[in-house]
Amino acid sequence: MELSKIVRARNPGGDVVLKLTDIVKTYNSGELAVHVLKGLSFEVRRSQFVGIVGTSGSGKSTMLNILGMLDVPSSGTYVLEDINVETLSDVDQATIRNQRIGFIFQSFNLFPYLTVEQNIEVPMIYNQVSRRVRRERAIELARQVGLGHRLGHRPNQLSGGECQRVAVARSLSNRPAFLLADEPTGNLDEKTGNEIMKLFHQLNEEENV
Ligand code: ADP
Ligand code: MG
Repeated sequence: MELSKIVRARNPGGDVVLKLTDIVKTYNSGELAVHVLKGLSFEVRRSQFVGIVGTSGSGKSTMLNILGMLDVPSSGTYVLEDINVETLSDVDQATIRNQRIGFIFQSFNLFPYLTVEQNIEVPMIYNQVSRRVRRERAIELARQVGLGHRLGHRPNQLSGGECQRVAVARSLSNRPAFLLADEPTGNLDEKTGNEIMKLFHQLNEEENV
């Protein structure tokens, strides 16, 4: 099964944010080579909203991990905002990952001992944002995702949908160029999942990402 994609473009003429060219990814586990991505090329422009569709095992996570610089392709080129990712040092990659890419995962990946506000602040701590600005931005983002009244709560005091809202707020904290979400509604019931998708569309329309 090949990957397919759905693109909803509000602004098809926007700058190219990321571009993949002839990406190949092969896993070599023992004697067996697993050919996952076989020459994948596509680009995403600013303000586009792209859904990647494919059966389980078709390579969606593999592709997202490459886009997030969590994994490297076997061959091919990945250009992120005019930078060829391959030429970056590990330190520069980590900086770009922190400042330009927002990540959202199926399992939320929140810190259980931190409050809503503190969880949202984490990427800003790595980005050396001052405590005062961090706090203001975290509160603003919590309000934006509908959690302004839950700032002091910890993840185990929240519902799944609320946890994912915290993760969305956190992903936006450093004003990234784009968000990567890997099955972000996979752990949620249908109604809550639809609400999270509505939040993504709303953030996209308000030009947050
Ligand atoms: P999806 O997210 O679409 O379900 P994945 O990208 O997770 O698919 O996996 C694509 C294929 O690559 C699967 O067949 C999977 O078994 C294989 N795969 C993923 N990661 C590894 C790995 N680290 N080593 C070997 N095979 C892998
Ligand atoms: Mg996957």
